[in-house]
Amino acid sequence: MPEGPSILFLKNKLQRYKGKTVSKASGYGDMEKSGLENKKLLDIDTFGKNFLFIFKDFFVTVHLGLFGRMLVNKRKKVNASFALHFGEDEINFYVAKSKLFAGKPADHFNFKTDIMKPEFDADFVLNELLTNHAEQMIGDVLMDQNLFAGVGNIIRVESLYHAKIHPDSIVKEIPEKKLIFLLRMVVDYAEEFLNLMKTDSVKESALVYGKKTCPKDKKELLIAEMGKVKRKTYVCEKCQKLYK
Ligand SMILES: [Zn+2]
Repeated sequence: MPEGPSILFLKNKLQRYKGKTVSKASGYGDMEKSGLENKKLLDIDTFGKNFLFIFKDFFVTVHLGLFGRMLVNKRKKVNASFALHFGEDEINFYVAKSKLFAGKPADHFNFKTDIMKPEFDADFVLNELLTNHAEQMIGDVLMDQNLFAGVGNIIRVESLYHAKIHPDSIVKEIPEKKLIFLLRMVVDYAEEFLNLMKTDSVKESALVYGKKTCPKDKKELLIAEMGKVKRKTYVCEKCQKLYK
């Protein structure tokens, strides 16, 4: 599944369509598309793992699924689930969900939770963690898109390793200082992820994700589908402390 930085990376390739008028919207997705025709695309943004196509009184979100892809001026053999046409040009989304919203993105989404945005507010997220998610396992909460918009499995696994926290740790048992450090690791690693995308080296540069041993002590990693999220997790049980 694409993570926040992957979506931002793809979005940056679409800048030339900003200010252009949509000639047609198509795709087999069930979103009503006729309202987009002949409308000027004012801006393209992201929220977490969503693309945002912003028009005057409404916007469209596009979320890529596990095998989702975006192609510009290229087509796959299968039909796109959503596509925007600008005359001869087209942006095609495959295995994607599109949704139309009235108003502005800020009316619907809390940008304080978006790990890729300057608006990300670590104090706000920390407070939410301690008040509404205190009993949960940190490895699960990190995947909650309402609190950590843009975090996917690689960011989750790598930032927990950087912060030396075991994913099964209960939020309220983790020292506050460690939680603050974890939030910083999430944001820092997401930025590194975005840079690594330019050379297509996210996976080879990962410290534990997709690896077999801890780079620090060579101990064999615990690799399992952990927590309620049941996502493949890589943990060094020597380096990452379990707070329970
Ligand atoms: Zn280790």
